[in-house]
Amino acid sequence: MKAVQYRRVGDQPEVVEVDVPEPGPGQILLEVDAAGVCHSDIAVMSWPEESFPYSLPMTLGHEGVGTVSALGPGTYSCSVGDRMAVYGPQGCGRCHMCSQGKENYCDYADQLGIRPPGLGAPGAMAEYMLVNRERHLVPLGDLDPVEAAPLTDAGLTPYHAIKKSLPKLVGGSRAVVIGTGGLGHVAVQLLRALSPAEVIAVDVSEQKLELAHRIGAHRTVISDESAPDRIRELTNGFGAEVVLDCVGNSATTTIAAKCTRAESDLTVVGIGGGAVPVGFGTTPFEVSVSAPYWGSRSELIEVLELARAGAVRVHVDSFGLDETPEVYERFHRGEIPGRAVIVP
Ligand code: NAD
Ligand code: ZN
Repeated sequence: MKAVQYRRVGDQPEVVEVDVPEPGPGQILLEVDAAGVCHSDIAVMSWPEESFPYSLPMTLGHEGVGTVSALGPGTYSCSVGDRMAVYGPQGCGRCHMCSQGKENYCDYADQLGIRPPGLGAPGAMAEYMLVNRERHLVPLGDLDPVEAAPLTDAGLTPYHAIKKSLPKLVGGSRAVVIGTGGLGHVAVQLLRALSPAEVIAVDVSEQKLELAHRIGAHRTVISDESAPDRIRELTNGFGAEVVLDCVGNSATTTIAAKCTRAESDLTVVGIGGGAVPVGFGTTPFEVSVSAPYWGSRSELIEVLELARAGAVRVHVDSFGLDETPEVYERFHRGEIPGRAVIVP
């Protein structure tokens, strides 16, 4: 089968021929329907050799949807032909976190060498992929697989981040979303679906802001040095109750910190290496700063239900497997609004 692999540190990903994996006990073989292209892949492919954490070659793709093609020995509640979304941040399944469905915060995943598909384990950018446990699958039902694949990360991650801030998103509140790309454009829709907050979208790209506005952002602000002042003006001079930074570099964490107000939540979802200095006199009183990772299995079920209800819809551009290396280049140049999805 064909697979898109990152093969050597510093090289471009390549389309290669690999064997179709055989499902062992408890494993499920999916015929991949769609795989999302995430900025985290670009981050991974920029990491230096000395500290590169995964073994190579590695099949990319941590946003996957597929149809059950074969089942290893064992008993299952799914059957061949069922369409499933893959829950990526897999854990041990037994620790306190995993017992709550929060496998993204498993205490033992690292120690046990459990890696998400596409981020250490073979991922979804291939004709077939193996899933190790049935609990890492969520039935997709009648959702469109191409639009649904990004929900497993670009939907789940902002959903998890926003859900914990919902008590602050009351009538008259404001939420700022910095970076309205794959994750951010879903974040805007989630904020609109889940809260009465006024949503302010911030991006360097007019095209991304235009999309953000079209899908529900009340206000848009170009991301430059004047952005904090502009956002302050739009928030009566106070700042926003919730700031979601979907870029996370030093430029955006600086803007994000300047948009906070007393008791606000500043959530850094992007992994751009920026940091937020917190302290008395540095940030407004009682600002909560967090940097969450992905989301829980139950939250993935909730995100899929929101999509089923029509509350969120990922703006997708689909491409064939052979086009993937070029898609990464275009994505890196910021040329793909919404999410690029690979359809093997
Ligand atoms: P994306 O490239 O689709 O979107 C990023 C957006 O940020 C683009 O619209 C871009 O124009 C905009 N941008 C770039 N620089 C900016 C700046 N200085 N100010 C404002 N906007 C700016 O990327 P994505 O796939 O949505 O991923 C977003 C980030 O989230 C990445 O860092 C990714 O690695 C990270 N991520 C984190 C998690 C997690 O669990 N924490 C999960 C998935 C992705
Ligand atoms: Zn991702």
